[in-house]
Amino acid sequence: MTKIVNHWIGGKTVEGASGTYGPVTDPATGAVTTKVAFASVEEVDAAVAAAKDAFATWGQSSLAQRTTILFRFRALLDAHRDEIAELITAEHGKVHSDALGEVARGLEIVDLACGINVQLKGELSTQVASRVDVSSIRQPLGVVAGITPFNFPAMVPMWMFPIAIATGNTFVLKPSEKDPSAAIKIAELLAEAGLPDGVFNVVHGDKVAVDRLLEHPDVKAVSFVGSTPIARYIHTTASAAGKRVQALGGAKNHMLVLPDADLDAAADAAVSAAYGSAGERCMAISAVVAVGAIGDTLVEKIRERAEKIKIGPGNDPASEMGPLITKVHRDKVASYVSGAAAEGAEVVLDGSAYRYEGAGFEDGHWIGISLLDKVPTSAKAYQDEIFGPVLCVLRVDTYEEGVALINASPFGNGTAIFTRDGGAARRFQLEIEAGMVGVNVPIPVPVGYHSFGGWKDSLFGDHHIYGNDGTHFYTRGKVVTTRWPDPADAPAGVDLGFPRNH
Ligand code: NAD
Repeated sequence: MTKIVNHWIGGKTVEGASGTYGPVTDPATGAVTTKVAFASVEEVDAAVAAAKDAFATWGQSSLAQRTTILFRFRALLDAHRDEIAELITAEHGKVHSDALGEVARGLEIVDLACGINVQLKGELSTQVASRVDVSSIRQPLGVVAGITPFNFPAMVPMWMFPIAIATGNTFVLKPSEKDPSAAIKIAELLAEAGLPDGVFNVVHGDKVAVDRLLEHPDVKAVSFVGSTPIARYIHTTASAAGKRVQALGGAKNHMLVLPDADLDAAADAAVSAAYGSAGERCMAISAVVAVGAIGDTLVEKIRERAEKIKIGPGNDPASEMGPLITKVHRDKVASYVSGAAAEGAEVVLDGSAYRYEGAGFEDGHWIGISLLDKVPTSAKAYQDEIFGPVLCVLRVDTYEEGVALINASPFGNGTAIFTRDGGAARRFQLEIEAGMVGVNVPIPVPVGYHSFGGWKDSLFGDHHIYGNDGTHFYTRGKVVTTRWPDPADAPAGVDLGFPRNH
């Protein structure tokens, strides 16, 4: 029987009432295993109403009450890592170890939220004028919404809601309709941890649900992570509706390899970062920029490593790379490889026709490893975010040419330099136009207490996600100026001049 994934509203499962469902597929077999309820406007309204009701008490709860629940949630999350990872693999396709990795990185943000009292510590200036003190505090916004992509169904929601609820907000999550089960498991664990009903809600669905969240007057802020065109739309639409918005978009992450780099380490890093999770990571390396004469050697080292990657079902411990999310996406990724030669690239490895062999897996969304060399910047394979296991290598003569090439990209999520030259690495950090930079680190996803976010078309809005930026995004500042006059003071008297401090 097909499993049904329903909404989670007000602390319990709520069956979809719209009558509309979306299919959830096991990418390894291509079989539809699950139906997910798509929310109507009324169902989104019910979730927002539950969150608004809950805010009346949650927004007033003490830091100790909130963090006690988050500590319990952290322990439950830790205990259920495997189960969540299995849900991710079944619907996303990534291998189990990779799914466990995303749970671990999500857990880091829960760690941060458990210590939110440190981040929310206000500021106090005493005696700024005679008997006058000034304090700055930050308060929650109210109901906030998160809209998340398919590629990290557990981690990306955890970039958002732990900070949002720790700071006293209530949350409505609209996860990707392609892999919705992890979000519901998380909702159950939050309830088990003692989170009051309505503080965390999940509505599933498509544009109907998203658009309602964007326009709903009781939603005060929207966090979005997904592709660039939708991120731009979310930012424009929710901003026009008066909301605070952070919308993280797509990427094309470059790795600049200087001639002095350890080429074996660079090749290991390029292969891990390009083909891990089948390239379906916003921080995947999709373009290697080889500087000077090292190009041929580097491409050869990448090729010999990439050829050995074991492709197979995500729940097979022998697999290093699983299938892609949908058949449509698989075919689109393959089309970039098929078209690459005509666009001037040298096709070193062509995985576009690959099929995993095994009974029951014939209809899986399989694709192999592709490596394209000497890719011109005019090629679609270079310009578009492919989001698949396709690595482009570009050749330049100098460091300056490499930096100019990277800075000309409309995306600016992550980027990395591989070198042994500290001076060049330092220059790169300052000159490169991207939000996250790695020095001999191919996927520089910041730890929880630093924030995550790109530049240019990789992020719309002012705030990065999590870290101090997350706390600021989900709170608003208030400054209190206090005077307690001494009974012995002479009365101040009426003074219509603008108040001055003395
Ligand atoms: P997507 O933009 O298609 O979907 C993201 C969310 O938006 C989903 O919940 C989806 O239901 C919703 N959505 C889709 N179309 C919509 C529309 N027309 N109107 C309103 N809502 C809509 O992204 P995806 O395919 O799920 O995820 C992959 C993309 O996410 C890649 O581009 C990847 O780079 C990006 N991503 C970025 C980051 C980052 O931190 N910058 C992290 C992860 C993923």
